[in-house]
Amino acid sequence: MRLHFFKDFFDLIYPRNCSLCGRSLFDFEVCFCRICIGILPRTLYHRMPTENDLTDKIKGLSNVGMAMSFLRFTSGGKSQKILHRLKYRNKPEIAEKLGKLYAQDLIEANFKNCWDLIVPVPLHPVKLLRRGYNQSEQFAKGLSEGLEVDYENALERKKFTETQTKKSRLQRMENVEDVFQISAEHSVANLRILLVDDVITTGATLCSCANVLLANGAKTVDLASIAAGK
Ligand SMILES: [Zn+2]
Repeated sequence: MRLHFFKDFFDLIYPRNCSLCGRSLFDFEVCFCRICIGILPRTLYHRMPTENDLTDKIKGLSNVGMAMSFLRFTSGGKSQKILHRLKYRNKPEIAEKLGKLYAQDLIEANFKNCWDLIVPVPLHPVKLLRRGYNQSEQFAKGLSEGLEVDYENALERKKFTETQTKKSRLQRMENVEDVFQISAEHSVANLRILLVDDVITTGATLCSCANVLLANGAKTVDLASIAAGK
C-alpha cells in the first residue's frame, strides 16, 4: 500500500510515457506501450540470418556466421526516433528493453543456446564520458537477460580514431583495423560469441571487432544490432 503510494506519487512528478507515441504507460509497460511494440519496424533478419541485406553488406569484411538486426533504420522513421531518445535523452533503459524484446523474438525462433557469451562493441571513451553509458552494452544486457547468456565487455579500444564519416568504405576499414583488442582480464577462446552494436551503417566497426574476436580464438562470431540501415 505504502509502496503504491510512493510509486503513484513518483509517476505524478515523473510521468512514464511511451518513448514512441508519448501515451502514458500502464504499470506493466516499460519504455513502450503494447501498441508501439507491435508496430516496431522489425527486420526479421533472424529468419534468414546468413542471407539478408546485412550479410550482403559485410560480405568480405569478416568471417562472421549470422548477422541480424532487430529494427530497420529509416531516416525520419520510428527507429531513428528511438535511437535519438537513446543517445541524447539519457535513456539507457530503452536499449535494455529493446534487447529483451529482441531476445523474445530470437527465443521464439529457436535461438536459445546458440551462444556462450554476448559482447558489446565498446563506445569511444569520450562519448562514454559524455553519455554516461554505452547503449550497445545496455542492449547486450537486455539480450543477456532474455537469452540467459552472460555478457561481458571483453573488447576495448586501443586508441582514438578520427571522425570516420567522410571516408570511403576501404579507408574506414583500414582506420578501424587496429582500434580494438581483447581486454586483459577476458578470454574468448573457443566461445560462440554474439557481438552486438547499436546501429550498423557500413559494418566496418562491427567487422573489425569480429575479426579481433576470431583472431583471439573465438569459435564463431555472429552479429546483432538494435537497428541497421539498407
Ligand atoms: Zn506507444
